[in-house]
Amino acid sequence: MTDPAEVAALARAFAVHLEHLREYRGVHFVGEGPTPSAEGDVSGADVSGADELGAGESVVDDPGEGDRGVGVPGAGEPGAAAPGRAQPWGEAAEPGPSWGAEQGGAAAADDDGAGAAYREEAARARAQRAEAAQAEAARAQAEAARAQAAQAEAARAQAAQAEAARAEAARAQAARAEAPPAPNSAPNPATEAKAPARARAADWPAAKKLAYLRERNVGDCQRCPLARTRRNIVFGVGNPEADLMFIGEAPGGEEDRLGEPFVGPAGRRLDAWLDLLGLRRADVYIANVLKCRPPGNRDPQPMEIERCSPFLHAQIRAIEPKVIVALGRYAGCLLLQRDLKLYEMRRSVQQYREPKSGAEIPLMVTYHPSYVLRQDRRGHPGHRGGGPPPQSNRPAWINPEDEKVLADLERALALLRR
Ligand code: SF4
Repeated sequence: MTDPAEVAALARAFAVHLEHLREYRGVHFVGEGPTPSAEGDVSGADVSGADELGAGESVVDDPGEGDRGVGVPGAGEPGAAAPGRAQPWGEAAEPGPSWGAEQGGAAAADDDGAGAAYREEAARARAQRAEAAQAEAARAQAEAARAQAAQAEAARAQAAQAEAARAEAARAQAARAEAPPAPNSAPNPATEAKAPARARAADWPAAKKLAYLRERNVGDCQRCPLARTRRNIVFGVGNPEADLMFIGEAPGGEEDRLGEPFVGPAGRRLDAWLDLLGLRRADVYIANVLKCRPPGNRDPQPMEIERCSPFLHAQIRAIEPKVIVALGRYAGCLLLQRDLKLYEMRRSVQQYREPKSGAEIPLMVTYHPSYVLRQDRRGHPGHRGGGPPPQSNRPAWINPEDEKVLADLERALALLRR
């Protein structure tokens, strides 16, 4: 690049650039590099002097007379700026010889054109930067607003959760307050809260207590595996105000099908005994230890008895019979809370102790009708076990085990009459 005009235009453009740098960085880029020669080859000349500068540094604090800094032709140097032209750093150019009279006007025009273009470009860049900064600020503001909204939403969700928990606790408390006397269970703080409801329920008639127990406590009970194989829950049947209560072991096939205790062959035998004693089924109350049928009429498992027996104790509390007759060994053992042989329990009148109140009720333990029916099929082996001799007025179907049961039942009735 040897055209002085070109060089001058470039130098001026660069000076403008430096002015902008100074404007934005606050640095005085007053060059001290070699001044480009109007005549010599200035390619490769350092026209800025800025390469050696750090931000904020000033290489010349007070440019001296004749020193015009950045490689711009100055006074006393060949290629001085056109007279009367303002220099980029704000000082008026001194009048003096130019690079050439014939080139001076053209160079100034080029300089003006380049400077204006550069300023325009710089202004555009400034505007773009300002725009970008504005956009960035808007983005940050939007982001902050989103974070604030998310925070508010989380707070709302937390409040709703707390409200739901409070409502649930209030519902549970209300339900506890309405709860009926529960099946036999250990006292605990929750039980204490039921005290007023229990007090109210204590005044209910037995029928209402039983209905509540069946609907609200037993319901669709799933407390033991028998729930999976049963067809019906066999709760109990008879007179809720009965003085005499019969308690068997568990429902059989017919009972499971019909949902009523003692309705199969064993039930018919029980009805026959009652008939012989001048009683009807409607005079007594009949229930079982288990409310669901064990598959294949197998023996009840201890776990099943443990889960189900609270319902039976609650039934006894509701009915408050004067005498209880346990039919079979399982019922006798449960009511006595002891593991005894049937003949041991039959020897005398036992006492059932109600687990919650401690109240005692006389208890007779006798054979289960199913057992007596099995003796029918085996034939009458005679009066085993020292039972009473058959009475002449007994029906022909009576077998010796029937006689034993009838004798036990008569003792129970005698207890009632006391
Ligand atoms: S046997 Fe008793 S505890 Fe088991 S499911 Fe039936 S009602 Fe519930």
